[in-house]
Amino acid sequence: MSDSRRLRIAVQKSGRLSDDSLSLLKAIGIKLNIRDRLLIAHSTNQPIDLLRVRDDDIPGLVMDGVVDLGFIGENELEEKMLERQAASKPSEFEVLRRMDYGGCRLSIAVPQEMNYQGIESLNGKKVATTYPYLLERFFAQKGINAKAVMLTGSVEVAPRAGVADAICDLVSTGATLEANGLVEKEVIFRSKAVLIQRADGALDDDKQALVNRLVPRIDGVMQAKESKYIMLHAPKNYLEQVKSLLPGAENPTVLPLAGSEDTVAIHVVSPENLFWETMEKLKALGCSSILVMPIEKMMG
Ligand code: ATP
Ligand code: MG
Repeated sequence: MSDSRRLRIAVQKSGRLSDDSLSLLKAIGIKLNIRDRLLIAHSTNQPIDLLRVRDDDIPGLVMDGVVDLGFIGENELEEKMLERQAASKPSEFEVLRRMDYGGCRLSIAVPQEMNYQGIESLNGKKVATTYPYLLERFFAQKGINAKAVMLTGSVEVAPRAGVADAICDLVSTGATLEANGLVEKEVIFRSKAVLIQRADGALDDDKQALVNRLVPRIDGVMQAKESKYIMLHAPKNYLEQVKSLLPGAENPTVLPLAGSEDTVAIHVVSPENLFWETMEKLKALGCSSILVMPIEKMMG
């Protein structure tokens, strides 16, 4: 059983968001004892329980207050919100952070042989999708009179099967569309994974305090992924030129080098990677021992 004093977090059990969500929880210091079949996983070092469910269930679990937090794709979140609004069910939540994974787009694609002249070509047509609310909102906004046909799977084969004229599905590379003779025409929604919380004020003080500690850690992990620690030896005379080549190096640490009058060591945390081209320019200025290292965690 789950203890209601423990913070409950919903994550996708198995699918495209599972690994990244679990690695993030691990990276922010939450130890988890995950057994594959089980719905609930308890953290061994924090008052946290993980609920492992289908991603379709996550928005509702958060909006109904069954769990406190959830990691979910914005596409699924927005769709479920529209669906619940249409059914007059509570649909409130708070987005704590937009994550750096789960990126995809919801797009309308049509068969290669269709004479597509713009969205007006969809008037009077049937479009198969798992996201009927998002698609119908798009049609309404654009004044298109088309019908969304709900399919929970195999959306991409609907036109060939004669079930629909076009599809509206999630795309990342476009390979699935191409393999099915479809061409992407309209992007209707761009999505990433987000961390959401029950509507504001719904968490008790202890849980909220825990969430308030976890969120900056998430920021720290995401920032660290982008950042690099750069070290190099630079000729003193060219210090300004060297600094101007290092991204984000307004205030680098400059250290004397033992036994060398005209060379210094520079250490800097850069918000981005150092390109080979920049390293070559640094070398040309007389820099040496240029090291670019990954950063695991950061706290400002
Ligand atoms: P479940 O069994 O949990 O219902 P699912 O089949 O609905 O799983 P997945 O295919 O695992 O879901 O995708 C989960 C989420 O991952 C999507 O809703 C979307 O936000 C994101 N995603 C990222 N890239 C893609 C992609 N190329 N195709 C589909 N979803 C993607
Ligand atoms: Mg799903």
